[in-house]
Order: sequence, then C-alpha cells, then structure tokens
Amino acid sequence: MRWVRFEQDGEICWGHLEEGTITVHSGAPWAACRHATTERLPLESVPLLAPCQPGKIICVGRNYAAHARELGHAVPGAAPGEAPLLFMKPPSAIIAPGAAIVLPPVSRQVEHEGELAVIIGKRCRRLGAGEPVTPYVLGYTCLNDVTARDLQQTDKQWTRAKGFDTFCPLGPWIETAPQPGPRPWDGLQVETRVNGELRQSGNTRDFIFSLERVLQEITAVMTLEPGDVIATGTPAGVGKLAPGDRVEVTIPGIGTLANTVAAADTP
Ligand code: MG
Repeated sequence: MRWVRFEQDGEICWGHLEEGTITVHSGAPWAACRHATTERLPLESVPLLAPCQPGKIICVGRNYAAHARELGHAVPGAAPGEAPLLFMKPPSAIIAPGAAIVLPPVSRQVEHEGELAVIIGKRCRRLGAGEPVTPYVLGYTCLNDVTARDLQQTDKQWTRAKGFDTFCPLGPWIETAPQPGPRPWDGLQVETRVNGELRQSGNTRDFIFSLERVLQEITAVMTLEPGDVIATGTPAGVGKLAPGDRVEVTIPGIGTLANTVAAADTP
C-alpha cells in the first residue's frame, strides 16, 4: 500500500494510491478515527508534499562499510558494545518531491546522500532486544541526506552541515511493503543518480547495524512517535551537487525521489 500526502484547496490531505488514483482519507495513516472517503483524484491532479512532517528525523552515520572508508573513517563494528553513530536533521529541512535543493553560499561542497527512510507508525519506547520492528513501522520511502561536507569536516558537530533548509528531500510516498517477508526493509537496492548518471548504489542487506539494532539504540534514548523518520545511512559514492543538477534517489519496490539543485538567491 502506498500513502501519499498532498495539498488540495489549501488543506493538507492524505490518501492511498492505487494505479494512478488517490483515494482520499479523513486523516493521517496513524490517526485512530481515520477512514477512506469516497473522494478519488488522479495522481497528476495534485502536487505531492513530502509524505509526512515528522517531529524528528534521526539519522544513522556510517551504516555501510564502503561509505565509511570513502570518507576516511574506521568502519564501525556491530558488536554489542559498539553503538551506531546517530545524529538529527531538523524537520524544517524537508522538501517535497520535485522541489529544489538550495545550495547555501557558506558551503563550497554540498553533497547528495541517497538513503532508505523508515516512517514510524506507532509510538515506540525502549524496543527490546529480539523484538521485531515492523509493528512500529508504517512504511518506507526515499530520503536525500544532503550534506555540506566542508562544514561537516570543520564544525565539531553536524547541525549546520546537515540542517540547512531544503537539505532533506523526502518521498515520493510511503510504501508499506516494498517487498514481501517479515523484514521488508532488508535487501532493498538504494541508488542515486545525478543528471541520469549512477553515482551511488548499495543494498540494505549490507547495513552494519540492522534496523532492529538501530531502533533499539534510538528508543533507548528517545520515544519515537508516529510520523517520525529514521534515515538509515548512505552507500558509497557520495559527491558534489551543482546548480542545475537533477538528483534522483531510487529504491525499487518504493519509487524515485527526484529533486533539482539551485544556487541561493544573491541578496
Ligand atoms: Mg547520511
């Protein structure tokens, strides 16, 4: 099932998408009293918004060994004593499919990081070891963890490098089951193209820290609420973006998130 979020007559609406037609729902997918209405819309008739507006976006750094190596870092281990590197992006960084990533003048090296994003569907606190994550997950989408690499390297932490407005393209929709099986997130190909050229390609089966482990570590610290987003880390092949580029994150079974790149307006 695919959930879309869109604007109609100034209102933010939710619906599910089937064969190019949106069935409008009365509320968010996790709302207790939500129901499908009788209203149907062609997908092309409404501009899609990012498929949720989370309270928080929690990201995993260095979750693919080849990407850790390309940035010159030690590869983290998944041993019980070693925890994933976590950081946050502000929800204000989110942009819709098709919107422009704006390059801030203060950075000379803004890079793409295509990732699988997990959307929480049910409050989750202190997930136990061995407990499945799927009861807490609404579904999956594509995310671009846009990063000012030069600022990431010079700042002591990453709030600036990861937090500029437009640095979190998200979408195009939430797919609840990108593949069959009890772990529908495991074994997904994550590809990033710039102007049609393949730049990043990885598979979530190569995660250093599994989604179960990531959720255990996050929920030991903070409660996850419906709509919260987890960015699961990027494969090798990150690279610089320039004004006029078109960047696409594709996950077969989910879809393609496409965005343009623009220079900031000069004051
Ligand atoms: Mg990342």
